[in-house]
Amino acid sequence: MKDIDTAEERPPGALKEQRYQRHSLIDWFDQEQVKRARVVVVGAGATGNEVLKNLALLGTGHIHVIDFDRIETHNLTRSVLFKEEDTGRFKAEAAAEACRAIDPKVYTTFETGDLWETLRIGDMKSYDALFCCVDNYEARIRLNELCLWARVDLYNTAIDSRYVCIEQYPFSRDRGCACYQCNLPPSAYAKIRERYSCGWLRKKAYEEKKIPTTAITASLAGSILCSLFLQRNHPGGPQGAVRLYFDTISLNSTVTHLSHQEECFCSSIFHDSHYFKVKNVPGADYARLLGSEESLVLSLSDKLVLDVTCRNCGLSRAIDDNVRRFDESLALCGACRTHSNDITIKDIITLDELSMRFSRKAVPVKFMHFTRDDTQILLEMEE
Ligand SMILES: [Zn+2]
Ligand SMILES: [Zn+2]
Repeated sequence: MKDIDTAEERPPGALKEQRYQRHSLIDWFDQEQVKRARVVVVGAGATGNEVLKNLALLGTGHIHVIDFDRIETHNLTRSVLFKEEDTGRFKAEAAAEACRAIDPKVYTTFETGDLWETLRIGDMKSYDALFCCVDNYEARIRLNELCLWARVDLYNTAIDSRYVCIEQYPFSRDRGCACYQCNLPPSAYAKIRERYSCGWLRKKAYEEKKIPTTAITASLAGSILCSLFLQRNHPGGPQGAVRLYFDTISLNSTVTHLSHQEECFCSSIFHDSHYFKVKNVPGADYARLLGSEESLVLSLSDKLVLDVTCRNCGLSRAIDDNVRRFDESLALCGACRTHSNDITIKDIITLDELSMRFSRKAVPVKFMHFTRDDTQILLEMEE
């Protein structure tokens, strides 16, 4: 995590009081609560810029920005925090710096890596909210899962050039709360599958169709989302999981209360799971770590490719690695040069098999969980 703030550079307290003087005239505005708030914003694109700008103007205590991408010229029509000379810089870094320029008292940190690799569930537990400002279903699904485990409130957005969609999932407060995936239509999963072949192997030449957005839809999403966060304890605010659709042409809007679906994967995440951080030890050590129940069933955060076996020539080999490290070329048999490999992919494994397959190497997953005596245990791997 990079830090661009230093205590010495903070302006004196008196200035702060003047700065927030207008907020203090609003009966429901609790500046101290805003100052105490710790939030993470994932995605510093069009919507992320607007969310960050608002959070900084409001005087949010700590803002952590995550985005792996760099600024391109075409981003400048929708990104209030970026200047032309920022082109080529990391979005997260430029955005964090701009937030601090808005209000030097706002403590800003940033990360330029992949969200799945950089966001630790253990760290997320200390945040009040996660703002999901990404532009694809897959990243939203991943953030939804991380927020569910960490019990952090999720504020989600999706925009195009006309429509604004914002959602609130108060996971920290509402036990029976719907999650992002509870009401996700099959078309979303179909869209995700377009990127993969044979189920979970990335297509080599897949170019994602970009959805055009404008500063108008981005700023609406950013302001309504921050308003929801700001008013999260207001008795007049929407309760539970809620979605708002707004049409910037007809000005029609709809608010939908999202209901929890019992068959959704989120039902398997206990509200009171026990969290442990573990050194990423070799798989064989888990038997010692977890006791000697070889039949213990572990659910993994990531899918693992275990073996490939050629249907044509019969050649078989063990892979034992994270599916994210491979693409569709894994179907090609190295011996007979035909695309005949059957690939074994698993994300549920017994302790026995895990110990055997990863006897001397680390298990390449982000976290794993299992249930013992009606207690759910979550193990997050340390780097
Ligand atoms: Zn769900
Ligand atoms: Zn073969």
